[in-house]
Amino acid sequence: MLGKMMHKQLTIGSLIEHAGRFHGATTVTSVETSGETVHVTWGDIDQNARKLAAALGRLGLEQGARCGTIAWNNRRHLEIYFAVSGAGYVCHTINPRLKPEQLIYIINHAEDQVLFIDTTFVPAVAQLRAHISGVRHIVVMGPRDQAIAEQIEGVLFYDELIAAEDGRFDWPELDENTASSLCYTSGTTGNPKGVEYTHRTSVLHSLGGNQPDGMGLRARDTVLAVVPMFHVNAWGTPYIAASVGAKLVLPGPHLDGVSLAKLIDAEKVTVALGVPTIWMGLLQGLAETGSTADSLQRTIVGGSALPTVMIPTFRDKYGVDLVHAWGMTETSPLGTLNQLLQKHDALDTEAQAKLREGQGRPPYGVDLRIVDDEGTVLPRDGQTQGNLQIQGHWIIDQYFRADGSALTDDGWFDTGDVATLDQDGYMIIRDRSKDIIKSGGEWISTVELEDIAMSHPKVAQAAAIAARHPKWDERPVIIAIKSDPDLNADELLSHYDGKVASWQVPDRVVFVDSLPLGGTGKVLKNKLRDTYGDILLEN
Ligand code: ADP
Repeated sequence: MLGKMMHKQLTIGSLIEHAGRFHGATTVTSVETSGETVHVTWGDIDQNARKLAAALGRLGLEQGARCGTIAWNNRRHLEIYFAVSGAGYVCHTINPRLKPEQLIYIINHAEDQVLFIDTTFVPAVAQLRAHISGVRHIVVMGPRDQAIAEQIEGVLFYDELIAAEDGRFDWPELDENTASSLCYTSGTTGNPKGVEYTHRTSVLHSLGGNQPDGMGLRARDTVLAVVPMFHVNAWGTPYIAASVGAKLVLPGPHLDGVSLAKLIDAEKVTVALGVPTIWMGLLQGLAETGSTADSLQRTIVGGSALPTVMIPTFRDKYGVDLVHAWGMTETSPLGTLNQLLQKHDALDTEAQAKLREGQGRPPYGVDLRIVDDEGTVLPRDGQTQGNLQIQGHWIIDQYFRADGSALTDDGWFDTGDVATLDQDGYMIIRDRSKDIIKSGGEWISTVELEDIAMSHPKVAQAAAIAARHPKWDERPVIIAIKSDPDLNADELLSHYDGKVASWQVPDRVVFVDSLPLGGTGKVLKNKLRDTYGDILLEN
């Protein structure tokens, strides 16, 4: 027998409607591509999103049409997020750091009808134009600019599009299972794959991921989304901020430590979200500007393993709590967040900090397990490591336009990560399965080796890789950037003493000036393996 309660669809339009109605006067700060900082409100975002939604209808788009964005985190991008999805089209965020061939592939594979671009990307898109002929309209995110109009034929200007509308547009009550947005994985190997979210998964991710032990954003927060809006919907931050009516700060193109330190102080940011490299940059920026980031209470850190030295540095020097989180494009992305349980109150600060180095536990809405290579479920004892698999309300089922399911026969998504899991759900990533080092049949975690290297005061950044070895098949090599020229390989290797078993200590150290980074700022270990994979075979 069915119950007798209202049934409302879980839609992205309902999120912006709520923010516009009940948090209409709350500020959204946007650092524009020009460098100017503007202050608008959730009310303005809602109004402009309605105008844009109407304008897209007038362009003749059909429901479900994909609209691409190549843009920084700014207010027009935020309006596009809500306008496109809210009106029943699909917001396809594209990573501008991808190579031109990948951009062409993605835009054509998605069959984007409209492409919204920030002025930064006008020259790049002008070059691509001939290869993306399926795109009907290119919209530059700003006022009319004659020089730009001459570079791309038929280009439209965002501000003109919305100026022609009166904003009287009602968000349709779409079926919550309708596609809302699309994001491609970074495709470090092979072509990128599309992950298509639905209204329902996006709203449930916002509610489930924002519980007090999760992102925990509130109306009283000022939230700085450093995590790019072109990568997994900025971890859902735009939707979550709208759902709670938080003040949102969008930092534009300049994500160096000094720019961020100034923005945090100017806007009195309380919570910030981003990848570890951003927070390493912020530490430098704080030191350079002399800022003490007084307003900042928390940062949520994920995307790659958090160097453990960062936790006490932020805590003791700046009073900032780092919350470690894990997820991936296929998981919307929030899969785990690290907050302690009541029973951990009795532990001392050091033991608590140790627990918080891991990736945390799943919120209601996702389930985790680890399995061996045959698919046998392994114990949740915090010791046994295995392939991490996930299920839940906001987890992929099938890649966009792919044949067949992305899941195991029994309905789990295999993350490609190797992890341990304990009884309370605390998960620790040991490695990516393709990165982990198999030395003489034993596994060595590159994450752990890197973390130890980065805890050396004279190391700025480090990556560990598997190098081929005549006897052991693979042995660890550490590739490091020095922060102090007075560091040699022996000193770094002796730093491993007592921290790992002696057979896990790297065989070789290579010092470099920079590490190859992918589109989302992660170290490209496959590139490093191409360059240094045979280093132990030579001589
Ligand atoms: P891509 O797969 O395109 O690189 P994702 O952002 O989807 O991009 O990456 C997801 C992967 O990033 C995870 O499978 C995991 O390997 C890694 N990752 C994410 N968060 C963490 C974290 N907190 N600690 C360690 N690894 C992480």
